[in-house]
Amino acid sequence: MSDAELVLRSTRVITPEGTRAASVAVSAGTITAVLPYDAPVPEGTRLEDFGDDVLLPGLVDTHVHVNDPGRTEWEGFWTATRAAAAGGITTLVDMPLNSLPPTTTVENLRVKRQVAADKAHIDVGFWGGALPDNVKDLRPLHEAGVFGFKAFLSPSGVDEFPHLDQEQLARSLAEIASFDGLLIVHAEDPHHLEAAPQQGGPKYADFLASRPRDAEDTAIAQLIARAKRLHARVHVLHLSSSDALPLIAAAKADGVRLTVETCPHYLTLTAEEVPDGASEFKCCPPIREAANQDLLWQALADGTVDCVVTDHSPSTADLKTSDFATAWGGISGLQLSLAAVWTEARRRGHGLEDVVRWMSARTAALVGLDDRKGAIAAGRDADFAVLAPDETFTVDPAGLQHRNPVTAYAGKTLHGVVKSTWLRGERIVADGEFTPPKGHLLTRTP
Ligand SMILES: [Zn+2]
Repeated sequence: MSDAELVLRSTRVITPEGTRAASVAVSAGTITAVLPYDAPVPEGTRLEDFGDDVLLPGLVDTHVHVNDPGRTEWEGFWTATRAAAAGGITTLVDMPLNSLPPTTTVENLRVKRQVAADKAHIDVGFWGGALPDNVKDLRPLHEAGVFGFKAFLSPSGVDEFPHLDQEQLARSLAEIASFDGLLIVHAEDPHHLEAAPQQGGPKYADFLASRPRDAEDTAIAQLIARAKRLHARVHVLHLSSSDALPLIAAAKADGVRLTVETCPHYLTLTAEEVPDGASEFKCCPPIREAANQDLLWQALADGTVDCVVTDHSPSTADLKTSDFATAWGGISGLQLSLAAVWTEARRRGHGLEDVVRWMSARTAALVGLDDRKGAIAAGRDADFAVLAPDETFTVDPAGLQHRNPVTAYAGKTLHGVVKSTWLRGERIVADGEFTPPKGHLLTRTP
């Protein structure tokens, strides 16, 4: 390690080969070697010894709604990236909607990048959006470096981002497949939603009945059929319905180019525990029953579900009314995702290596950043989280870095305290103290 500027040492370093005591050499922001724990550190090289705290690769969260510019009172690049950093996330990919403008043209992408540039405490990339009328914009956006395209198959919640009908989906997917891009899909079928009872009001059971599993299952089946026909790459966002797992597993076995994510709230919260009127728990598709959750965990364990991302989608508190039908749908949990997932994972007998695979390695691979992110290995960016996995804390929404102190995790006691987070070899947050923003704006690797 003669050329190392910095050595990070821990008795528990999570590498692709497993957890072991190691010294990680860093030079110019890149990991240059993973060495034995007691490798001699040359004079003049800075040594950071974390003792028994775990050194893991910074998380890569590919599903975050930053809402900036345009709805910055909901969140923003400054607050979102600070919250992410505090939670051990070093890369996020921003969703194309809820900001104004949405990321649906190259010009809009330019506006978004300009707004994010001096506010990003972590690395930030962008998804594009596939709308009924922007097929001509998809290839230029791809060439401008977006990581793929998001589409809705049912209303998105904001007027400026309309959903695709099946014919429009076919057209957009054919265009995206022509340059081997990635389509990421909010898969709920609008006809099944329309046919479901739409009670409204504060009862969670009524809200759950209004977003039935078969809406997800049907939309996913249709998407799989189209992906298979076009040999296109598709990704199912925020899977909630465990009933869709057999058809996902069958499609993967059949060679369909399909990946699937789920979210911390589906893995750690249950319909049974949501109080009536508590719309901080509202998201679409909804948090379902405990038995459904058990099957999602099984699917993560066996690889049917690939990865875990936050789908952090906050709003101001006044939009979280007690009527589930009209309240803003979105769960705020960016800063808490690692601790929330780890808390439940350990209870179910999973290791931190599993959490790292679901929340860093696989998400980095999803967006093609696995040459730079997602692992502690030579050649990757020196992005890390230092975690005390057995320490606990109780969630106080007012103490989070999110812009609005509303979260479904309020009052929960979680395992896993992030002691510090590092980006390209620089400590960007420790004990609630942040450095000025050092994040880069990322583009898809051509
Ligand atoms: Zn989302």
